[in-house]
Amino acid sequence: MSEGELGFYYADVVGVEQLTTHMVRVTFGGEHLARYEGIGAPDECIAVYFPRNGETSPPPMTEVDGVWWYHGIEDVPEGRNYTVRRLNSAAGELVIDFFAHDGGVAATWARQATVGQRVLLARPRSWYRVPADVQWQLLVADMTGLPALGRIIEELPAGMRAHAVVEVLERGDIQSFDTAASVTYDWRIGSGNGDCASVLDEAVRSYELPEGVGYVWFAGEAASSRVVRKYFRKDRGFDIAHFHIIGYWRARSEQWLEKYKKYQGAALALYNSVIEAGRTEQEASEEFDAMLERVGL
Ligand SMILES: Cc1cc2nc3c(=O)[nH]c(=O)nc-3n(C[C@H](O)[C@H](O)[C@H](O)COP(=O)(O)OP(=O)(O)OC[C@H]3O[C@@H](n4cnc5c(N)ncnc54)[C@H](O)[C@@H]3O)c2cc1C
Repeated sequence: MSEGELGFYYADVVGVEQLTTHMVRVTFGGEHLARYEGIGAPDECIAVYFPRNGETSPPPMTEVDGVWWYHGIEDVPEGRNYTVRRLNSAAGELVIDFFAHDGGVAATWARQATVGQRVLLARPRSWYRVPADVQWQLLVADMTGLPALGRIIEELPAGMRAHAVVEVLERGDIQSFDTAASVTYDWRIGSGNGDCASVLDEAVRSYELPEGVGYVWFAGEAASSRVVRKYFRKDRGFDIAHFHIIGYWRARSEQWLEKYKKYQGAALALYNSVIEAGRTEQEASEEFDAMLERVGL
């Protein structure tokens, strides 16, 4: 972002489509998005802020010391993380696929999304980074990780081998992707996704890892992500450059957040101390997570 530019983007709904049984595809456009460049990563994620009750648009953010945020606003609009499923810079349009799970500010908004409505987007980030020595990839996702998984597969180079394990609610949630790479699929239908226990952990364990150097990317429920991360880190001896295993959402998040409040300060202090010691973000996240696990979170 260059100096003088706003650090957020208003995004106006220009199209809504029921993509699959539980996935709503919303296309955003408008004059702000015409200057959105993206960060060029296939799991590019952006924070989406929704209008507060009775308003048609979220308020603008302001900048303090280089940080764009709702500084000085008590009633901060609700914001949630979503993947930029597709970016069409020429048309100034950006696509987000929302999993319409039960409840939730974002899922409820997606169910009623209509052309002309406005949200605010901020802070694009990404995690998926494949080292140059990688010969195969294992891509694992539930409904929330499916948009990123689709974009990752579409952007894989010719010659890359990948295996995708995807957990969806119904057969009608299966998607297909065009790709230059060689990709095999294992669709798991009717589990996880807030409906019942996830089988992703077991599916990953039963997959026979190919020969050669691999890279693992996982996006799904936080408790599953912890189990899968431990499996690759401890049982399979992966080094941290060769996996990104991320919790995209948390089951019963209300209870979890209530308990987390008690440990938040200490956990963040630990995270920051690891970063200040010159170690990576991923190492800091590992220590952060280990501390939360120790206190039963
Ligand atoms: C980097 C990143 C990228 C993401 N990309 C996408 C994306 O492209 N598409 C997408 O649909 N989601 C995506 N997510 C997940 C999304 O941010 C969460 O599911 C978010 O909690 C949804 O917000 P909400 O307001 O609907 O529900 P919340 O208000 O957060 O939660 C309300 C209730 O619903 C439960 N809940 C939350 N999410 C789910 C879920 N997925 N399934 C079942 N129950 C749930 C909570 O436990 C809570 O009880 C992404 C998350 C991250 C971190």
